[in-house]
Amino acid sequence: MSNMQNHRIIPFRAALAALAFCASIAAAEDAGAANLRREVLKAGDAQLAVVLGANASPAEKRVAELLAGRVKERAGIALADPGAQARFRLVIGTVASNERIKAFAATRKEVASLGSDGYVIAVEPGKPEHYVVGQSDSGVVAGVGRLMREMRYQNGRVEVPSLHIAETPQMPNRGMYLWARKDFFGKPDQVDRYVEEFALWGCNGIGLWFEMGMFKGFDDPEAKKWLDIYRRLYATAKRMGMKTGLLMVVNDAYNTSPTEMRIKPIIGCPDHYLCPNKPGSVEQMIAWQEQVFKALPRIDIFNLFPADPGGCSCLDCTPWPTRGFWRIAKPLADRIHEISPKTEIWVDTWHLNHPTFGGKDWENLVANLDWTKERPKWFAGFEVGLAPHHGFARMSAEDRKVYNEARQPLMVFPEISMWGNHEGMLVNKEYWKSLQTEMNDYTPGLMKGGWPYSERWNTDIASVMMLSWFWNPKKPAETVLDEYSSFYFGPEAASARDLLDLLDDSNTDPQRKEKISEKHAKLDGSLPEWVKRDWRWAEIAESCRFRTR
Ligand SMILES: [Zn+2]
Repeated sequence: MSNMQNHRIIPFRAALAALAFCASIAAAEDAGAANLRREVLKAGDAQLAVVLGANASPAEKRVAELLAGRVKERAGIALADPGAQARFRLVIGTVASNERIKAFAATRKEVASLGSDGYVIAVEPGKPEHYVVGQSDSGVVAGVGRLMREMRYQNGRVEVPSLHIAETPQMPNRGMYLWARKDFFGKPDQVDRYVEEFALWGCNGIGLWFEMGMFKGFDDPEAKKWLDIYRRLYATAKRMGMKTGLLMVVNDAYNTSPTEMRIKPIIGCPDHYLCPNKPGSVEQMIAWQEQVFKALPRIDIFNLFPADPGGCSCLDCTPWPTRGFWRIAKPLADRIHEISPKTEIWVDTWHLNHPTFGGKDWENLVANLDWTKERPKWFAGFEVGLAPHHGFARMSAEDRKVYNEARQPLMVFPEISMWGNHEGMLVNKEYWKSLQTEMNDYTPGLMKGGWPYSERWNTDIASVMMLSWFWNPKKPAETVLDEYSSFYFGPEAASARDLLDLLDDSNTDPQRKEKISEKHAKLDGSLPEWVKRDWRWAEIAESCRFRTR
């Protein structure tokens, strides 16, 4: 990973007294760049053009539209026509898509040394041409997203400080898992935009679960409707250079499943799920899953989910990890691999340390897939729960050691929705930091990212937090909150940041209620209209109401 940031001078953030930035400001001054401090590119209406290459990808075209839309929405100005003689030109793309990027890259060694999905941003206010270079589509989108966050949106103009940033994400799978329920799926248009917004934060994958039990069968019109939504969201993700992820519970079944194949009831699992030890059931489950898999565009990451829901308590399936789960997981994955050899197949172990699901039998599952043993060709790694407060999914230090010693790639499934969940935007810094600490307890070379579990819109800040950590797992939570506030609250960022600290569930200030009411009312009167139009403000206002009851 290379993370080089020079001349990163943002007076606004200095005003926030975010200590984390002092080092970079000092470095810039050391470099004799003190006079750059005031050097800011200022572009008014039709003064800044975005220049795409001749081979611009759909991701590049779309992110240029998003940039233009945001500038219009916040500053009320238009970008210049790329063909016209604009005062400033922002050249966007990859070495392959854009000749100007290729020429720029030839003079900058940091472009050649970018890792997968990395980006370089070069803004020198004295010059007419500026660059966002991505190593891939996802890198271009993340780079433009970063630029949007560095921009300041004034009425009638945008300002960009002098920037020289090169950053590569440390983990390859920076996904978001959106729970398939009406909070998200009742609003497909808004979710479409949300997927794009995640990409701007460096997210490169969307994970969804097709829950068969919601439907009578594959031909149920309701199932068709959901598949349509999934196809649409995957198309949006693909257009942004993202991966597609599908989570499937291995013994899931339609709610009309044959009764003779059903499970012996187990905690948290609907009775229509199938027992993998009943005659014909494995073939039936594979056939159903194959049908769903083939109805969707190519899935990049397929997750075999074991429990919650899932499982069977019959004697033949006990213990579940090696006798029930594996009995269906192995042939199912063999089949998926046969259909789509490029699909990464991950084994999730969520909930398996619950006594009902085999106690420590999950260790046998891990041992069988250990790097030293014979293991299926398709096995990409283990997805482990990151849920320190979850009674059955939490991992002890000893558990983590077992995974580290198996030396297989790892992803995390961070629980950001259920813990401390309440109405309105969730802010829970101490909890988030515990997720960060736990993730960093896994061997860094093995950790490949994950899918935070998001149930609804109120996990937005937690999602950004996790996505930021997939880029840089050592980034302080405070820095991410500063970035979030500056992007979504513009000129009122410092004040909004104070409000988020008050809404933080780990805040024990005895006068918290009064302070929340006061800060909320004040912000409500001073925020720019574009902030108030964003659903995030509604979530925060809801959280204020909840906390001041
Ligand atoms: Zn069974």
